[in-house]
Order: sequence, then structure tokens, then C-alpha cells
Amino acid sequence: MTTNNMKHVAEYRNPELAKKLLERIHKRSRKPARLMEFCGGHTAAIFKHGLRQLLPPNIEMLSGPGCPVCVTAAADLDRAIALGNQPGVIITSFGDMIRVPGSRASLQRARGEGADVRVVYSAQDALKIARDNPDKSVVFIGIGFETTAPTVAASVLQAEREKIGNYHVLSLHKVCPPIMKAILDLGEVRLDGIICPGHVSAIIGTRPYQFLADDYGIACAVAGFEPLDILLAVERLVEQIESGRPQVENPYSRGVRPEGNPAALKLMDTVFEIGDADWRGIGGVPASGLLLRVKYERFDAARRFDVDPGPAHEPKGCICGAVLRGVSTPPECKLFRTVCTPERPVGPCMVSSEGSCATYYQYEATNER
Ligand code: SF4
Repeated sequence: MTTNNMKHVAEYRNPELAKKLLERIHKRSRKPARLMEFCGGHTAAIFKHGLRQLLPPNIEMLSGPGCPVCVTAAADLDRAIALGNQPGVIITSFGDMIRVPGSRASLQRARGEGADVRVVYSAQDALKIARDNPDKSVVFIGIGFETTAPTVAASVLQAEREKIGNYHVLSLHKVCPPIMKAILDLGEVRLDGIICPGHVSAIIGTRPYQFLADDYGIACAVAGFEPLDILLAVERLVEQIESGRPQVENPYSRGVRPEGNPAALKLMDTVFEIGDADWRGIGGVPASGLLLRVKYERFDAARRFDVDPGPAHEPKGCICGAVLRGVSTPPECKLFRTVCTPERPVGPCMVSSEGSCATYYQYEATNER
């Protein structure tokens, strides 16, 4: 990190400014308010900096489904594992993903039993493996939201340019606004405000959230990941809720423009089209996923390989689905801390650093109020 960046970050951790914002929040907030931070990165930052217990007691914070590893459905993970068991296939995946238990095994276990499963840090790494192993089929497990999808799209275009025919993507990418709508339509949780994800919003901008304010009367504010970013978003949400005027505000203007990132959006739209997606704990949600367009079908692992992973089921006793929907908190799971720990995770929310269970496990003691 450069000196300039450190100075920049320090500004957004300034205790005096945080105190002033908290005073404003305490003074203005009167109504009971339930706010959901959509993004697992926000949950981790909120817990790390102990922000929950600094807020007035009438403000309740709920964690949402914004953890790419956690929302990957068991059936999709099973499909990835079945692909890994095909002869001549190299599976490439982000590190967290290989530890997530599927219905019968994890990618890590499949590797122990002979599958060629490699951890990569980007789709470009996977492409390099494909380039270096022309006699194998290399499958990249594409998970994540609008933040990561453009980079995966770029890898597909590069594979096309370089004529790398053995590179394939299993696209499990998901898009955010439809799942926000799905959670609200389920009617299980009453929300007054949503802290919109900073990284996703940097790509899609703020406009796709407008329906939340217009159709559902939900206050929205985009936040970055420093403590002041989050407090500023909470302060904006409180103001909207108290004044009865829900809208979409962008206090994270240093990272997010209303129109998002047009170049990244174009890249994504070139390679992917919107399709249905299966979400852990929520099920099929129309128009919430990104599928490879027919033009790029030769890079599509879902079309290229015909595998039958068998019926999927959730790990016994795991309530990740309810946690992801904001209906339950991790300590309400009977397995939390006893059977399920970061060393021996039962469900995905304990695996990923953006998973609610892992965050509660690490910081719960410092966030009691
Ligand atoms: Fe699932 Fe473990 Fe979280 Fe319980 S504590 S919901 S078993 S990940």
C-alpha cells in the first residue's frame, strides 16, 4: 500500500469523524429500523470494527446473502465436483470454494481422491493453466457477483483471441438486484433499509437499486468498506427512514458512479446473458444469474460436459440458507462453534471469510450489546 493510500484509508478510520457521525445517528434515529448489509465484506467490516454495538438499540443490523461462496447451491458444487472426476479435466477454483462441503464431498476431498483440482487467484491463472496443458480440459469454476464477472468475461475473450480451445467456464455467477427483490418478495424479513454493496455498485452503478425505493419503500445507501463509509451509509439510511423519504443515495462517491463502469458492463454483456440461477437456501431465482452466450458455447463447461452429480442436499443440521436470507443468525444454528468451526466447516458460511458464520465465529465476543 502506498503512503497516499494509507493516508486515504486513515481518513476513513478517523475516530473523531466516526464519533461525530455516531452522534448524528443517535440524535436523529427514533424509529425502529432494520437494516440489511447485503455484502459479506460489509458484515466482516462491521464486526471487525465493532460498529453494531455503537449504534442506537432501535437500529437492528442483519447480514444478507452477499457471499459468493455461500450462495453457490449445493447442486452446482456437486456438478463442479462431478466435472473434476471426469478423465483429463483440470478444475480451477478460488481457494475458499474448494473447502465448501457439497452434498457428498468437497473439491478438496475430490482432489485427495485423485481429481486434478488447482487453486487459482484469477480467471487469468486458469487460462494460463489451459495454455500450458493443451492435452487437458481446464474448467474454471466461475463464482461471484458483478464484481468478478467482467474479469471472467475478459478471460473468455482472450481464450477466443488466442484460440485456446481447452478453456471452459462453469458460470455460477450471480447478479445482485434480483436477489434483493427475491428476499423482499419472500416476505420473511421486514427491512427498512439496505446498505448496498460497494464493489458490485462500482460496476453496476446505483440505478439498478431504484426499484427498492420506488416499489418497496426501502431506504438505500451504497457503502465502501471502511468504518466511516459504513457509518455514513447508516446515517443516510436513518435520515431517509426518519423523514419517510426512501431513495438511493451514494455516499461512496469516491468508488461508485451512478452509471457504474460502462466498460466492465459492456465486457460482461458481450460474453454473458442473464439467466435463471440456483441460490443456496433460496432456490431458483429468475434472471439472477449470468450464463455464457451461445456465441461462446464452446467455452461453456455446462454445455461441453454432460455430468450427472445425483440429487443434492444441504449438510445435515446446517441453517446456512436461513442465515443467507437474514432469517436466522449463526448462533441460532445448533452446530455453530460446537461441531462447525472454521477448521471443520459444515456449511459454506463457515468457510468463506465473507461468510456470516465465519465472521460471527471470529468477532462475536466483541460485538455483544
Ligand atoms: Fe451451517 Fe456451520 Fe453456519 Fe451452522 S454454523 S449455519 S452448520 S455454516
